[in-house]
Amino acid sequence: MNVQHLPQTALVAGGAGFLGSHLCDELLARGLRVICLDNFHTGRRSNVAPLCNDRRFTLIEADVTDARLPDQPVDWVFNLASPASPPHYQSDPVRTMMTNVVGTGNLLSFATRAGARYLQASTSEVYGDPELHPQREDYWGHVNPIGKRACYDEGKRAAESLCYDHFRAGSLDVRVARIFNTYGPRMRSDDGRIVSNLLVQALEGREITVYGDGSQTRSFCYVSDLVRGLIALMAVDETPEGPVNLGNPQEVSVLDLAHHIRKALSSSSSITFKPLPSDDPKRRRPDITRAKSLLDWTPKVPLDEGLARTAAWFGVPGHRVAQPEEL
Ligand code: NAD
Ligand code: UDP
Repeated sequence: MNVQHLPQTALVAGGAGFLGSHLCDELLARGLRVICLDNFHTGRRSNVAPLCNDRRFTLIEADVTDARLPDQPVDWVFNLASPASPPHYQSDPVRTMMTNVVGTGNLLSFATRAGARYLQASTSEVYGDPELHPQREDYWGHVNPIGKRACYDEGKRAAESLCYDHFRAGSLDVRVARIFNTYGPRMRSDDGRIVSNLLVQALEGREITVYGDGSQTRSFCYVSDLVRGLIALMAVDETPEGPVNLGNPQEVSVLDLAHHIRKALSSSSSITFKPLPSDDPKRRRPDITRAKSLLDWTPKVPLDEGLARTAAWFGVPGHRVAQPEEL
């Protein structure tokens, strides 16, 4: 099922968040009208405040779990509505699960009524603590279904399932992006994710917190690359048959990242080791063969450059990093 006409209007659920606000920026820059729907659970009005002067931008305060989402004529629906940082999504796990399951169900119904194309922001967390490395889309994952991360991991897995049920029913053109760790300006300095934590700690000369022995790995994608991938996945004429990994395959250990940030910022911070959170995945790196061949997409921003841009943004006065006990 391919929509051949040029899209005019996109709805971005979770559009006031870190990724969502960059997506709104880019969609407007490409000439679309944008409706941003957000409940400001983890997002911020300030992320989209500059867009509110643009007549093509509409901000709707609403919760995706509310079945009475206002109907709008839209061509594209992006669902990014979900907390993404472990401390945030674990702080109210039932709400996280409901946002991902009930919220996704509501947005799928909304997109069906609108005759829109739908993109789900899924996650590398569907692979859990993976036994296959790097992770390909045909890997079914290794998730603890009753652990602290399950509200997010299983919520996102159920959301994918709902997406493909709608797709198989023939009622909706659905695309699923499995997003790997992404970083950049507008991450909340208090959300507990590694890049924001370490950059702000290094900038403030405070102890850099490494969980466990720091040997676990992640692969970090800069936000502009990721947003380009999301739009390419939504725009491609041929509907991909399954999910598409979007992430940067450059893998780095947490301890190496800490040393790197310390050195790059000439920081005097020392490194302190804290307990490893439960079910923390040991390795994570995307196989992006599918994204390359279907979308002609590869990430372009090297880690050094992305970290420098993000550090410059965190250098803006007023940011602070949360202490582990506050999260
Ligand atoms: P974020 O927390 O900055 O943004 C999420 C946005 O969704 C926020 O603006 C929040 O207020 C909004 N939201 C949450 N619950 C909602 C609800 N019930 N109704 C309406 N709005 C709601 O997180 P992010 O990093 O920008 O992540 C965006 C999406 O991308 C999420 O779905 C996340 O799971 C996915 N993702 C992100 C990453 C990453 O590294 N950033 C990795 C994998 C997947
Ligand atoms: N981490 C860390 N110090 C921090 C925050 C996170 O060592 O201050 C570790 C965390 O345990 C995980 C990795 O960094 O192994 C990435 O954590 P993040 O929360 O950014 O993302 P996710 O675990 O969801 O990949």
